[in-house]
Amino acid sequence: MQEFDVVVIGSGPGGYVSAIRLAQLGFKVAIVEKYAVMGGTCLNVGCIPSKALLDSSEHYHNAVHTFQDHGIDISKPKVNMDQMIKRKAGVVSNLNAGIAYLMKKNKITTFHGLGSFDSAKTVKMTKEDGSSEVIAGKNIVIATGSKPTILPFIPVDKERIITSTEALKMKEVPKHLIVIGAGVIGAELGSVYARLGSKVSFVEFADSMIATMDKSMGKELQKSIAKLGADFYLSHKVTGASVKGKEVTVKAQDASGKEVEIKGDYCLVCIGRRPYTDGLNLAAAGLTADERGRIAVDEHTLQTSVPGIYAIGDVVRGAMLAHKAEEEGTLVAEVIAGQKPHINYNLIPGVVYTWPEVASVGKTEQELKAAGIAYKEGSFPFKALGRSIASGDVDGLAKVLADATTDEILGVHIIGARAADIIAEAVVAMEYRASAEDVARMSHAHPTYTEALKEACLAATAKRSIHS
Ligand code: FAD
Ligand code: NAD
Repeated sequence: MQEFDVVVIGSGPGGYVSAIRLAQLGFKVAIVEKYAVMGGTCLNVGCIPSKALLDSSEHYHNAVHTFQDHGIDISKPKVNMDQMIKRKAGVVSNLNAGIAYLMKKNKITTFHGLGSFDSAKTVKMTKEDGSSEVIAGKNIVIATGSKPTILPFIPVDKERIITSTEALKMKEVPKHLIVIGAGVIGAELGSVYARLGSKVSFVEFADSMIATMDKSMGKELQKSIAKLGADFYLSHKVTGASVKGKEVTVKAQDASGKEVEIKGDYCLVCIGRRPYTDGLNLAAAGLTADERGRIAVDEHTLQTSVPGIYAIGDVVRGAMLAHKAEEEGTLVAEVIAGQKPHINYNLIPGVVYTWPEVASVGKTEQELKAAGIAYKEGSFPFKALGRSIASGDVDGLAKVLADATTDEILGVHIIGARAADIIAEAVVAMEYRASAEDVARMSHAHPTYTEALKEACLAATAKRSIHS
């Protein structure tokens, strides 16, 4: 039996980053992945392919809607769905090869097969041809990720009623896409098809889009996505869906119990994701998953209830984000090496890659109110920024929440051009416990979108934003 210091199960951003950090620290590492390619949800059916399609659809949208305004006349562009999907597949396989290279470079032994516990120290791998092999690890890291949540009364046939995985490889642009759930996936993939010309209807249980973010963000995002011609059925609970030929019917109830029926040609179900431990045989290691499918871990070390077994990423509590999984992968490697690493979960940014982008870090206004923390608020609209007016990207605002007494920045919420990049400045500032005035007094290059953050900090500090 081959023996390793650490066996990592799952090659998503949690697993493969953990394996590399472990190798850097001098451990003999194996990684087990059930699919033929590495990279997990993030690379194969998540972050990367969705961003590839967001970028392609944005180019198309601009070619149709904004080129003329910029003085660029072209004949009417057409969507070539086959090429768009082919390009996306190329982006993914390029990065698949990148991870395979990194495994080799770091001398990590890679196994392709379904990993399941044989005991608390051994993992059995069943390969695609049915053969199996058992390997031993002094430590084992579970990084098996998540899968889409399915509602029992919605028959996902993966043809007409689809999940994000199928939405990333469509053969045609839907005429009318019904999106159940206006959370992050709904907003991003709904945007892709709305830009490509689909009518998109969002059916959402909460009273706003991206409801877990600061309320002001969902409100602004809805205004922008409505400009693409989308419909919103907010505060609507989906009660059923059916397919007849090429037609999908979705039924939902509003808060008063009134039923609506929406007909389209495709329905995307994106109502959240659940931790994935199927086939892992947790019982053989003395582990169980909780009622939500998560593996319980120690808050500081991410060790499970069984010594030497750790769990990270989507399969444990917390935000289901690639960069959160990566930080946890690094933390576990360093814990195994006897170090004392730390993750500041409050400062893990959340980003929605729509256009305008939405990005957030720290506390929302709702959270501060609920916790009874006295705060000041400063906002600045992108439409008052020179850079936004120059590019034509005038939707959105930057909002800064600071402690009423100390002026320490407690939360930053931005919807606007390149918010995904601007939020990094807020993360750095908050990590160093900057006050709003600290950021307001730092020079920000002009003209840039980052000036929106400086202006919002000026507004939070003393209501003295210069340009609004
Ligand atoms: P995963 O990436 O899910 O990887 C788990 C791996 O384990 C998989 O490869 C799986 O095959 C393997 N595995 C499972 N069980 C076994 C087993 N028994 N044996 C062997 N292998 C096994 N997050 C962001 O931060 N930014 C984004 O822009 C973003 N966009 C997204 C877009 C979409 C459409 C989706 C669906 C998700 C997106 N996410 C995004 C979320 C992100 O993909 C996840 O948070 C991230 O992939 C979690 O990483 P992980 O390593 O925990 O698990
Ligand atoms: P989500 O939790 O973001 O949104 C799901 C939405 O579905 C919620 O707004 C919820 O109220 C709604 N919903 C639930 N049940 C419903 C019902 N019966 N009827 C109507 N609406 C209902 O989940 P998601 O969009 O599926 O994304 C899953 C995970 O993937 C998220 O946790 C997210 O962190 C991650 N992800 C991240 C990114 C990113 O970072 N840019 C992109 C995509 C996905």
